[in-house]
Amino acid sequence: MNSAKLIDGKAAAQRVLTQVRADVEQLKAEGIAPALAVILVGQDPASQVYVRNKILRAEEAGIRSLEYRLSAQTSQHTLLTLIAELNADAAVSGILVQLPLPAHIEETRALQAIAPGKDVDGFHSDNVGGLSQGRAVLTPCTPSGCLQLLEEACGDLSGKHAVVIGRSNIVGKPMAALLLKAHCSVTVVHSRSTDAKALCQLADIVVAAVGRPRMIDASWLKPGAVVIDVGINRIDDNGRSRLVGDVDFDSALPQVSAITPVPGGVGPMTIAFLMKNTVTAARQQAHAQRSSPEAACRSIS
Ligand code: NDP
Repeated sequence: MNSAKLIDGKAAAQRVLTQVRADVEQLKAEGIAPALAVILVGQDPASQVYVRNKILRAEEAGIRSLEYRLSAQTSQHTLLTLIAELNADAAVSGILVQLPLPAHIEETRALQAIAPGKDVDGFHSDNVGGLSQGRAVLTPCTPSGCLQLLEEACGDLSGKHAVVIGRSNIVGKPMAALLLKAHCSVTVVHSRSTDAKALCQLADIVVAAVGRPRMIDASWLKPGAVVIDVGINRIDDNGRSRLVGDVDFDSALPQVSAITPVPGGVGPMTIAFLMKNTVTAARQQAHAQRSSPEAACRSIS
């Protein structure tokens, strides 16, 4: 394999986490202890793994973690009450509700209940709106991680044509907003696009967030394109279960100038940026509290 082309997400995430640990130390020296509350409703196996990893990374970074494991039968009212309590708790810097939620709980209600200043996933409409206006707000972790990988691989992104495949609220749309903020020309393609492949062939940068194993092969890519593969798909490979991305890595590699592997690409960056957002939230809350204790109460409510 041509390792010179490989974008190493694990190493990049370690660099982010090293900076996070230093920032946490600095904050603690100032009397500020960042804390992340993670709420899991139900027993979805993948969600349990994600939550465990988030808690572990938080502890490694020196961030206090508060874990709330609620039964799958938990009512929406109980969940909203817990979120309101965490919003009001000055010792809690960030709140994360692990998705998906059980069907009887409205996802939007739960996400909108989190105070925007503690919304470390960046899913609250205030943060979504702020991002689309190009303001500095808490930004979704996966696209933030992708942007960092792209900046490290390409340098200045200004003027590049980026094609984002997928338009979810979690990845595709915030990714497009971040690339626009970085002065790219951005095309977003989705399941109704008439010729996603032809559009993709024009791209300097491709970010694939589809959820379809190895959908994008070399024939989709311009020679020298930089490819970020967000997809995580479990496939059966001759009786062996393994993870692959949305990009056919082996086919794409000779065609691209740089590409993320799956696993070991975007995945580690997502958790690293969750920690970074928690530190940012803690710092902003402390500054708001110092400059105006009353305004701080209003800004997190
Ligand atoms: P969603 O299912 O919410 O969105 C998928 C998007 O892909 C939709 O916008 C859909 O279009 C589009 N799409 C589906 N089929 C096609 C097609 N044939 N051509 C073009 N576009 C298509 O997924 P997510 O955004 O949440 O996640 C995408 C992938 O990224 C998944 O594999 C997920 O596991 C992974 N992921 C990885 C993370 C990480 O940390 N590495 C974090 C989050 C997600 P339409 O809107 O029209 O339906």
